Amino acid sequence: MNETFYHGETVDTVFRKLSSSANGLSGQQAEERLKQYGPNRLTPQKKQNPLVMFLLQFRNILIYVLLAAGLVTALLGHWIDAWVIVGVVLINALIGYVQEGKAEKALDAIKDLLSPQALARRGNKQVSMPSEELVPGDVVILQSGDKVPADMRLFSVRDLKIDESILTGESLPTEKKSDAVAADASVGDRSCMAFSGTLVTYGRAEGVVVETGDNTQIGRISTMLGTVETLETPLMRRLEELARTLSIVIVSVSVLLFLFGVLARGYSLTDMFNAAVGIAVAAIPEGLPAIMTITLAIGVQAMARRKSIIRKLPAVETLGSVSVICSDKTGTLTRNEMTVRSLAFSEAIYDVTGSGYIPNGTFLSDDRQVDHQSIEAIMAIARASLLCNDASVRHHENQWVLSGDPTEGALYVLGMKAGYDPEAERDEWPRIDMIPFESEHRFMATLHHDHRGHARIYMKGAPEVVLARCATQRNAEGDGNLDLAYWEEAMRTMALQGQRLLAVACKEVDPEKTGMDFSDVDGDLVLLGITGMIDPPRQEAIAAVKACKSAGIRVKMITGDHIDTAKAIGTMIGIGEGRHAMTGSQIEELDESELEDAVLRHDVFARSSPEHKLRLVKALQARGHVVAMTGDGVNDAPALKRADVGIAMGLKGTEVSKEAAEMVLADDNFATIASAIEQGRTVYDNLKKSILFILPTNGGEALSILFAIALGYTLPVTAVQILWVNMVTAVTLALSLAFEPAEANVMQRKPRNGDAPILSRFILWRILYVSILLMIGTFGLFLWYERAGYSHEFSRTVAVTTLVILEVFYLFSSRFFVTSVFSRKALTGNPAVLYSVGILLALQALFIYAPFMQKLFATQPLGPGEWAIIISAGIILLLFVELEKFMIRTFFKKTDMQ
Ligand code: ATP
Repeated sequence: MNETFYHGETVDTVFRKLSSSANGLSGQQAEERLKQYGPNRLTPQKKQNPLVMFLLQFRNILIYVLLAAGLVTALLGHWIDAWVIVGVVLINALIGYVQEGKAEKALDAIKDLLSPQALARRGNKQVSMPSEELVPGDVVILQSGDKVPADMRLFSVRDLKIDESILTGESLPTEKKSDAVAADASVGDRSCMAFSGTLVTYGRAEGVVVETGDNTQIGRISTMLGTVETLETPLMRRLEELARTLSIVIVSVSVLLFLFGVLARGYSLTDMFNAAVGIAVAAIPEGLPAIMTITLAIGVQAMARRKSIIRKLPAVETLGSVSVICSDKTGTLTRNEMTVRSLAFSEAIYDVTGSGYIPNGTFLSDDRQVDHQSIEAIMAIARASLLCNDASVRHHENQWVLSGDPTEGALYVLGMKAGYDPEAERDEWPRIDMIPFESEHRFMATLHHDHRGHARIYMKGAPEVVLARCATQRNAEGDGNLDLAYWEEAMRTMALQGQRLLAVACKEVDPEKTGMDFSDVDGDLVLLGITGMIDPPRQEAIAAVKACKSAGIRVKMITGDHIDTAKAIGTMIGIGEGRHAMTGSQIEELDESELEDAVLRHDVFARSSPEHKLRLVKALQARGHVVAMTGDGVNDAPALKRADVGIAMGLKGTEVSKEAAEMVLADDNFATIASAIEQGRTVYDNLKKSILFILPTNGGEALSILFAIALGYTLPVTAVQILWVNMVTAVTLALSLAFEPAEANVMQRKPRNGDAPILSRFILWRILYVSILLMIGTFGLFLWYERAGYSHEFSRTVAVTTLVILEVFYLFSSRFFVTSVFSRKALTGNPAVLYSVGILLALQALFIYAPFMQKLFATQPLGPGEWAIIISAGIILLLFVELEKFMIRTFFKKTDMQ
């Protein structure tokens, strides 16, 4: 199909060409077209060629050193060693390749969890469905916050604005109309089209899909989508830089050592060459980057299982240092299951019974049921509630299911409780026009005509907004002046019970009137009454707020609701109990530095809009806080982007907010944020634990060689043996730490200081301490056997095995930073540790006893006596490390290694 085809055509022509209509396609038509056109998705970009990815594993200074060493070894005629080096390099690259592939797959799978939905009309019924199933001819309804799911020709447009920057680079949203434009208009000027991937920032429209999948504009400019997420986070980048610097230092030291050995000590060239290579191989933590990647990927997967979907990897790290969470109220802290509980009229207040969306309930006055059908005020507000409403509630499979906004669902149910048949009522008073609800203006208004020549506007919204637009109130004997003081008192009573308030008003208008705008609802409406609805707190949110508090994280509630409602709900949940709350207008009165003070003193912010959220984030950040902020609306995007961790709602959130966020909550639940923070802290811990585990290995090996040379001994372990140890311990032991569950105290610690270096004083000390212990064990036993007259080969086999076994013991200790390892949990808490030890022992047995390995690595079989001694050394090492932990616990009162 030709792309210039649609924007120059009238809507009717477009419908005709696509054999569709404003009622949409039938289910069968859609099915046939889906077969013909395929799913509405972009063909994923080709992954990098596997061979290239494999070769990229060699782009590493250590590998260059090793290959050079291999070459020289070959030139010296040590063919076996040369082959072992090449073999180990290849195996290392292969392992890196496989692990990276796995990590990438895991992350891809998580991206798929975020498949967007579209609101379409099929067979004249509105259905929400996966965007992937859209076909040309489908009618789609766009609302503010949506991501346009396909290229569409618009036909019914209400104040629609679309951010098309991804296509045109234009950062200001474009206004859309339904009139055809010139056939040669450029993409940016096709104002009657909405293009796939662009974002609706305002208004509402309907359009017919003209192109899907790769045929859309965005599909053609595939290079625009080339933003592949790298498997990197700031911490990993820092570590990689560190590793690079370290490598250069180590290589320089090796060269100096070589010169020193040859010139000052008179070692032979070959010996010193081996020693220099040994040092380089020993000291460089080659396994570390791969372990980091896999730890991160495993952490992200674990989070997804617990309903937090990470969109941007660095968020995993930031989550661990979050010190303030700013959360929405409705749906996140509360259940978002609204039920109208009370009705306030000018002359009486009624309670409404019933629960959830079940349309059974009665109306009570002073606890006594009333005959509501005879009460004009109740019937009027109930009818208005049904008409000024986009939601519906149906009986489906034995329960009442809501489709649409819960606030409106509650009002719909109110209408049914009053005895109206919603469909009949909506047929009798068809809607002619509307002003949709937006959280900026906090009301919704609709224009209706009946079939007897009457026209009426209904309006519902936040009471202060509606009251400001009313001149009169409905009384039993007719309309009278608005008694503001009365209404304020009534509202206060309702709000203090935690009820969400909505005022309802109406106005008779000229029957000729067929359209409406803001000027039609500006001052002369009649207030019908105020509804108060409850939205119970989520039980799990109460527990999660508590958990956050003990983890040193402050929770703030930012809501569009009334201040008294917000305070009452806050108290139920444990946020800002009893303390003052602030409103959006109070925020507006403060300048930046006043706000910075105020934001620390308050935990509940009511009647606030998205711009306030942005200011609050900035104020908190200015005071050094790391802020997580939730949001769902299109206007929340700037605050989400600004926050250190922007969190969007997976269920009720707009696509725009999801795009702006670092993380998406699959269940919209506050408790999920707390669990994500716990996971974030755990992932960071595990990254640190693998560093704590891997670096001493390198340190111990390097020190052993340095000592041997300094003391004039032969090498206690050869370069190829070191390669062996590093390789097998990295893929078994170190990897198992990635599966480490959270430490018991992870949510009792204060948030991590985001600027603190990963290699804290404690970590550096532990690395040095364990390096020395490993060196003493390895070199000590080597010396002992040498002195006892055993061959170099035998003594080295003892040394290598000691190194491996000491690491096994150290692994158990590394599972907890400072908590003692002498517990049952230490043995059973992480099965991966046990498997990895099993595999390692099998490999080490092969290394010692298999004849071909003996030949390759110059090893000799050990007897039970040697094993007993080596295992005893392991136990001693464990005791020494635990002693150090005990000291840290007792003298420094530390619970982690910050
Ligand atoms: P939160 O920010 O915690 O999610 P919220 O959902 O209460 O809070 P908004 O959706 O901005 O915030 O609602 C603000 C106010 O607007 C509500 O207190 C209510 O009075 C009014 N309101 C909410 N939904 C509607 C609606 N569909 N039609 C008319 N008015 C509404």
